[in-house]
Amino acid sequence: MIKPEPLTNPAGTFFVDVVLPLALPDLYTYSVPDDLAQRIMPGQRVVVQFGKHKVYSALIYQVHQTPPANYETKQVLELIDESPVINPEQFKLWQWIADYYLCTLGEVMIAAFPSALRLQSETIIIRDQNFDGDPADFTDREYLVWEALELKPELTIGEISKIVSLKQVMPLVKGLMTKRAIMVQEEMMDKYKPRWIDLVYLNPLYQEDAAMGKLMDKLEKRSPKQNDLLLTYINLSRDFGKKKIAKSYLVKKAGVTPAIIQSLIKKEVFLTEKQQVDRLAPYSGEVIPPKVLNPYQEQSLKEIKVAFEAKKVALLHGVTSSGKTELYVHLMQEIIDQGKQVLYLLPEIGLTTQIISRLQLHFGNRILIYHSRFNDQERVEAWNKVLDDNITFGEQAGKIVIGARSALFLPFTKLGLVIVDEEHDHSYKQIDPAPRYNARDAAVVLGAWQHANVLLGSATPGMESYFNALTGKYTLVTLNKRHAELEMPEVFIVDLKDARRKKQVNGNFSKVLLDHIRVAVENKDQVILFQNRRGFAPFLECNVCSWVPLCVNCDVALTYHKNKHELRCHYCGYLIAPPVKCGACGDHDLRMKGFGTERIEEDLQLLIPEARIARLDYDTTRSKSAYSKILGSFEEGEIDVLVGTQMVTKGLDFERVSLVGILNADSLFHFPDFRSHERGFQLLAQVSGRAGRRQEGKVLVQTYNPSSSVLSYVLRHDFEGFYHHELLERYKFSYPPYFRLIEIRLRHKDEKELDRSTNAFVKDLKASFGKRVLGPTTPTVTRVRNFYIRHVLIKLEKTLSVSEVKQRLSQSVDKFKKDPDHRRLLIQIDVDPM
Ligand code: ADP
Ligand code: ZN
Ligand code: ZN
Repeated sequence: MIKPEPLTNPAGTFFVDVVLPLALPDLYTYSVPDDLAQRIMPGQRVVVQFGKHKVYSALIYQVHQTPPANYETKQVLELIDESPVINPEQFKLWQWIADYYLCTLGEVMIAAFPSALRLQSETIIIRDQNFDGDPADFTDREYLVWEALELKPELTIGEISKIVSLKQVMPLVKGLMTKRAIMVQEEMMDKYKPRWIDLVYLNPLYQEDAAMGKLMDKLEKRSPKQNDLLLTYINLSRDFGKKKIAKSYLVKKAGVTPAIIQSLIKKEVFLTEKQQVDRLAPYSGEVIPPKVLNPYQEQSLKEIKVAFEAKKVALLHGVTSSGKTELYVHLMQEIIDQGKQVLYLLPEIGLTTQIISRLQLHFGNRILIYHSRFNDQERVEAWNKVLDDNITFGEQAGKIVIGARSALFLPFTKLGLVIVDEEHDHSYKQIDPAPRYNARDAAVVLGAWQHANVLLGSATPGMESYFNALTGKYTLVTLNKRHAELEMPEVFIVDLKDARRKKQVNGNFSKVLLDHIRVAVENKDQVILFQNRRGFAPFLECNVCSWVPLCVNCDVALTYHKNKHELRCHYCGYLIAPPVKCGACGDHDLRMKGFGTERIEEDLQLLIPEARIARLDYDTTRSKSAYSKILGSFEEGEIDVLVGTQMVTKGLDFERVSLVGILNADSLFHFPDFRSHERGFQLLAQVSGRAGRRQEGKVLVQTYNPSSSVLSYVLRHDFEGFYHHELLERYKFSYPPYFRLIEIRLRHKDEKELDRSTNAFVKDLKASFGKRVLGPTTPTVTRVRNFYIRHVLIKLEKTLSVSEVKQRLSQSVDKFKKDPDHRRLLIQIDVDPM
């Protein structure tokens, strides 16, 4: 990065306006002590005191010489960074997010920075268990802190500042972090769990040529596949000079099934060992050039480049398994060859080891991963590597950052390409807390400012993006052929009503679906079963009076979790043991209603005992490694049927999935939300796309409503048909993409007060916006964490000036926040709600 000239004006005092990691409406000004004046510049962090005893690391927004009019400034205590940790481009993005989504810069800072970059008094510091340096190398002060952590393993920065001085605490903590001696204790941190892989090596018994010869003779006759595997092992261990080889890699190289290696392990020809792999450990496998594109992909690549030349955003609408990822690889390669950076955004749960390995195969250590599942330390490392890349401008090929939503905030300065994969995905929108931004839309803005190309890709583009493409704002590129001449999977509807009448339903499974699962399992194919969890979580109900145990803090039924035998609230985490009798009539006949993935898994196990079944949902993937472990064993063929929630719908590429079953399609459409059709269509199309990626595939959709129009589009893989049908509805009812929405969520502990304040607020809004204000309405879940909730919706014509609307809205909100009569009303604003 180009360093600005230090300011030289020794005569006057300098001031800095800083962003604090708090929801403050304005920037705060501090004066700069003379000894720091020469070193200070925007983008560096400083230590400041805010409030009586609290210190924060604040970010310098600008340096100037004008004292604030209304208050006496405090002095900056210390400078943390010698050079900026963020560059002016980032501030521009922060400001845009704050303005567009109506929030403060401090809130953006919290979203943008890993917590180790925004230390404050309350931040808890712990020793890093993996520290392998020598404490004798510490400075005296560092050693003091290190020792203090011996006596008390968790110290807040506030406490540490009592040991050293307030002024020095942050630079000291930063120094110890750089030495990897200490780290930030994250809230709810699911502690860093290393990943393990299986290695195999030859039993020393066969090291001798004679023994080996005998073994090979035997295998060649009886089990040639095992012999192939053995030969592959010998070749590989010679090539890499390594005796221990990753099991999955060996299987892949030999082109055999995992069962083959299992039998060699059983015979003790191979011995196994587990090895820990560090996520950020350098990639040491081979790196190969991008795959040769097929003619359809070539054509799409050309069209994308034409769009880029015209400085337009390209929207790639490519059906599932059309090879979008391979196209991305080609585009990325060109950009990093020019020494520029690539940002590749993916939905949180799409960021799997599968996609990471696929990209590492082509780009090796050029890949940087930025993921909320990584701990803070790892995120700061990735941050610094992007920053470092800026400093060594032009000297090396660029890097590729692959990350979820918040990777958007990394300090890029020579961004050449932004790819937003699965651009329709709802997880790009941060719902809580503020900033309630959509990373896809912010990425488009960032790309334009950095003169980077922007590519949005999806098999089921969002309505807004597709509309933008059809109206010429984006360039539409269509890739509607699957790679390798594969057909789209055939979709069949299973009419549950009809099946029930014919008594061909067993629990949640129609006979047809069961038969197909059985055949697939017998053929050693794999099956994915999708069950939408929302609305179908299992709960207890009294069979006599219909009483249902509810959460005490929220107006929702508690969800039953069988494995732990407990009832849990999915909104606030409240937890009880299941009651043994009805809370209303006292009867003991309590039954489980609804069905979730856990129930499906269990029922299926009873119906098809020989199937190996696993479940992928929020509960089975709590720990960091569980997710990749389950997908790993599915990939290895150790699982026949994978039952899951939305997690199974995202971007997974498994060879042997011949059948996808959707247990209840109707549940996807039952939400009182203008996006429910769009979302349901996308989910069905995405999960269907998991089938038949190397061979023929089938999709069975169970429904009570076989004539539904949305389903008919899914059947025919008719995205355009669906899109036009849905667009008409949106137009009729004034919804996006024709209108802009702002949702306002109001909360209060007292329901009467809530209604009183909400009505006053709506009246105030109506004075500005008239009929555009709808509501208040009471949401389906009326109370969460003891707060009652009301919603208000503002529908705005696209022709209105956004900034003017927002200014008026902000005025109303500020007025209410300051009014003692409505002080306890909490107001949340969500621009472009999802
Ligand atoms: P999408 O992202 O569109 O769902 P993928 O990129 O995952 O599709 O491609 C589906 C499968 O086809 C992947 O296993 C991929 O490696 C393979 N594939 C796609 N294009 C090519 C190509 N040009 N050459 C070789 N294999 C390809
Ligand atoms: Zn609750
Ligand atoms: Zn009862």
